[in-house]
Amino acid sequence: MSNLFDLTGRTALITGAGRGIGREIARTLAAAGADIAIAELDPSTASDAAEEIRGMGRQAFSVECNVREAGSVNNAVASVLEHMGKIDILVNNAGIARWTKAEETSDSDWLDVIDINLNGTFWGCRAVAPHMLARGSGSIVNIASMSGSIVNKPQPQSAYNVSKAGVIMLTKSLAAEWAGRGVRVNSVSPGYIATEMTRKAVTTYTDWAAIWHDMTPVGHMGEPADVAHAVWYLASDAAKFAMGTDLIVDGGYTAW
Ligand code: NDP
Repeated sequence: MSNLFDLTGRTALITGAGRGIGREIARTLAAAGADIAIAELDPSTASDAAEEIRGMGRQAFSVECNVREAGSVNNAVASVLEHMGKIDILVNNAGIARWTKAEETSDSDWLDVIDINLNGTFWGCRAVAPHMLARGSGSIVNIASMSGSIVNKPQPQSAYNVSKAGVIMLTKSLAAEWAGRGVRVNSVSPGYIATEMTRKAVTTYTDWAAIWHDMTPVGHMGEPADVAHAVWYLASDAAKFAMGTDLIVDGGYTAW
């Protein structure tokens, strides 16, 4: 049997891959054989990540990109196509969190989260669509969150929850539109994962970590690799019949 998880010869574009979960996704897909393009807000972490991928023996390209601007995403995709020739896999990973009570949430706090997490994901999907649909092949994996299905405790984060619920429904909507034309769209919904995002939360709000651990059946946070492996599956031919699925990887959080 051929190795359905082998990504040799594929090109994967990952947003927000300068650090955290995105960077681990880049490493994991590269280890599976893919060449990697990194679209990232911070050009220095982006080029550092690209250097690391080259060190693994794969081709890598980095481009500055702010996913909240449709034009910036379109330019990044055009630049990746020019330098790498094709995009087989898109991972919309860039995202932010804001912890504000709903009644105290400013216009800009709300819009930052919706623009980056939800609209940014749509801009990414839309930008690669003409290329993938014309080739009749492609796999898009959107990083949603368990927060798209449940309301987290104790942190108030209505904009974040709404943005991720939107990503899950966007994923299903695009999957239904494009499934018959060779382009698969799926999402991965992580539970609590140890990255800068959650580190910032637990160092500012010192009682949150214990609550999170207590509410997670496995009793601790996951690692970026736990998410990256789920992305790898959905990106690969092993998932050829998976379309519009939301793969929850949360240490059991949503089972309780
Ligand atoms: P981090 O904050 O550690 O990393 C986020 C990355 O996204 C950074 O590289 C950041 O760049 C980049 N980014 C932020 N805004 C933009 C933008 N406008 N344009 C381009 N890139 C941007 O977060 P995580 O790695 O933890 O999160 C990655 C994804 O996983 C997010 O979508 C998040 O919502 C989701 N997720 C995370 C969970 C967790 O527990 N950590 C749980 C569930 C989902 P820069 O360094 O320049 O700021």
